[in-house]
Amino acid sequence: MLLRWSEKLLKEILTMPAPITIGRPSDWRVGKQSPVSTQRLRCRQIVNETKPCDVPGCDHQRSGVGRYCRSHRDVASKRGDPLARLPSRNELAIFKHAIGVYLATDPALAKRISADLGALERTKALPPSFCLSPADIHRKLPQVAKATGLLANWQHREGKTYTEAVDNALALMGWMLVYYDSGLAGGIWRNREAFLRTRAGALLGDFRKTIAGKPVSKEASGATHRHLGKDFVHHATTIYGASFWSSPVTTQDGQDMTLLDYTKLALKAAKLL
Ligand SMILES: [Zn+2]
Repeated sequence: MLLRWSEKLLKEILTMPAPITIGRPSDWRVGKQSPVSTQRLRCRQIVNETKPCDVPGCDHQRSGVGRYCRSHRDVASKRGDPLARLPSRNELAIFKHAIGVYLATDPALAKRISADLGALERTKALPPSFCLSPADIHRKLPQVAKATGLLANWQHREGKTYTEAVDNALALMGWMLVYYDSGLAGGIWRNREAFLRTRAGALLGDFRKTIAGKPVSKEASGATHRHLGKDFVHHATTIYGASFWSSPVTTQDGQDMTLLDYTKLALKAAKLL
């Protein structure tokens, strides 16, 4: 099928307002919305709100310009999928363990991956002045500022690394293959990428600061988590390879299988599958 870009759509994309990113993230601002696009959005909303919510069995009308009613929209926005259950800590621990076991069998690969992650770590290092506190979060702050600030907090306030976020994304990619794709997690297939990206970014948590011994926090949105998670998933795919979980392994008793099947055995043994 030949895809055709309409002149109108192209113009709309090319005139999308870009955020202003000068100085520290706390100074960045969203681009100016044109009144024409605001009005077009309102028209789409009126038509859209006559349709039913996309969640099977939900009989509410859609809200805004999205596919879901108000309550399913909120969950979908926060999690990337209105229905899918979240991975458990124990499940992810087994996927992370499997990554370590696999790399231990191939020192050359482990060395190459470690060098790639080290190089990535250096390009992703942000200055401490890029950190964002709960008080810095307001409506005019663009998504890219919140994502950048949350990453700076992760590095400087939490003392964590970019590598940890990439490795977590790789474990989540394995989890998706086992639980999401099989329907066990109960998600809506179309939301697969959004759910994976949101979970990958959710590792970085919310905007937190301790003021006079008291912890203060402001929730980071699903969109902010997706913004970060998209990069984590991208780097996990390019550094470890898109077919990492299909890598061939041989078990101690001489059976040949994929790393994913090997991980499933461990999940079954732990009664998590
Ligand atoms: Zn609904």
